[in-house]
Amino acid sequence: TIHLENLIKRYGDVEVLHGIELEMADNEFTVLVGPSGCGKSTTLRMIAGLEDVTEGEIYVDGRPVSRLEPKDRDLAMVFQDYALYPHMNVAKNMSFALRLQKRPKAEIDEKVRTVAATLGLSDYLNRKPGELSGGQRQRVAMGRALTRDASTFLFDEPLSNLDAKLRGQMRAELALMSQRVHKNMIYVTHDQIEAMTLADRIVVMHGGYIQQQGTPEELFKHPVNKFVAGFLGMPP
Ligand code: ATP
Ligand code: MG
Repeated sequence: TIHLENLIKRYGDVEVLHGIELEMADNEFTVLVGPSGCGKSTTLRMIAGLEDVTEGEIYVDGRPVSRLEPKDRDLAMVFQDYALYPHMNVAKNMSFALRLQKRPKAEIDEKVRTVAATLGLSDYLNRKPGELSGGQRQRVAMGRALTRDASTFLFDEPLSNLDAKLRGQMRAELALMSQRVHKNMIYVTHDQIEAMTLADRIVVMHGGYIQQQGTPEELFKHPVNKFVAGFLGMPP
C-alpha cells in the first residue's frame, strides 16, 4: 500500500499542494486527473523523491520514505518530458537501470526484447533518441520504466504525444499489462477516456486539493460537485 499523509508542498512561500491525503491499495491502478497546474506532477515527483516534501509523509507498506533517496524507493517513473539519454541508443536507454544493477546480459537482452515488442519498438533498438519521432521517444521513456521490476510505477502523461490510434493501442496494452503484472500504478493524465478505462481509482485534483476520489463508477454516479462532473465530462 501507498499512503500519502497530508502532503504539503511549498515553493518559497507559495503553497501549491495543500494537504494531499490518499490511500492506495496494493496493485491498484490509481489515476490522477485535473487541469494544468493543479499539482499532479508535483505529487508524483514527491513520491519518486525528486522533490522534497514540505510537510506530511509518504508511507510505502507502512514505512516512511520521504527521506529516502530516489534509488532506494523501489519505483520506476515515466516523465512528462521523457528525459532520455541522448547519446545512448534505444536498447541502452531502456536497459539503463538493469545495467547499473549489473544484471546478466542474457536477462537484460530478453527483457529489452519483450518490452520493445510490446511497445512496437523492435525495429528501433539501435537508434538514438534524436533519430526518433516524439511518439517513439515517449514509448522509449515508457520502455525504460517497464524493463525494471519495481513494485510501483509512476506515469506522468506517458501517452500525451501519441496520435489517437497509437494512444488507443497503448492504452489497451497498459490495461492488459496492469492486469498481468500486479504492481502499484500511479498514472497522471488529462484524458478522461484514459482515466475511465485504466483506473481502479480516480483522484480528481484542482488547485492543489483533492476534490474527490473513488472508482470510476462512484465518480460517474455521484460526483461531489460540478467541477468533478464537468472535468470527467459527465452531466452534473
Ligand atoms: P500539467 O498538467 O500542466 O503538467 P500539473 O498538474 O502537473 O500540471 P505541477 O507541475 O505539479 O502541475 O505544478 C503545480 C503548481 O506548482 C503550478 O502552479 C506550478 O507553476 C508550480 N510549480 C511547479 N514547479 C515549481 C517550481 N520548481 N517552482 C515554483 N513553482 C512550481
Ligand atoms: Mg504535469
